[in-house]
Amino acid sequence: MVGASAPSNGVLPTNEIQQQTLEIIERGSDARLAWVDVVVQGAQRTVTPELAAQLLKHYPSLALHTCKSTRRTAAAKPRKEITTQVTGSDTSDTSDTFGDHLVGALLPHALEHLTIELLVQAYPGEVFAGATRWLERSAGTMRVRVSLPTEGGASRIFEAFSEALRQLNRLIALSERYERQKPV
Ligand SMILES: [Zn+2]
Repeated sequence: MVGASAPSNGVLPTNEIQQQTLEIIERGSDARLAWVDVVVQGAQRTVTPELAAQLLKHYPSLALHTCKSTRRTAAAKPRKEITTQVTGSDTSDTSDTFGDHLVGALLPHALEHLTIELLVQAYPGEVFAGATRWLERSAGTMRVRVSLPTEGGASRIFEAFSEALRQLNRLIALSERYERQKPV
């Protein structure tokens, strides 16, 4: 029997850990930016306290990202619920940080910051900007844009998007499992 070593002691099957909450459905770039369109599958669209804890455990400097989230009430501005500008490496201005917005942030917004975090780690000294906006709220689709590094092409951003997506989906699954196991 192939792969017969899986224990049946309450450990969740691997495919549950690797479920894809976020998926990239389209991507593109121009001279200054690369973007991905993502769809959020499932009911959970925002960062839970448990997911926030997981993210900060693995990527503590996420909390220091500059983040000007201008989320408004749905009634006030139905077409642009959220717009963010981020510079990953400029942490001097602490007036508005991603740490302030992390719990309750939309998952694609977290993808934006995680992508920038990976880029800042890969290209020390570079400053990256990003923005996330709704494409179609009812369909759960958002466009995440990130500026190109000065020496890199869009392919490097796409690599960072893919890796950030992988890590975020993994941590979402992990945090959901912890939340299910929590005593009520
Ligand atoms: Zn932000």
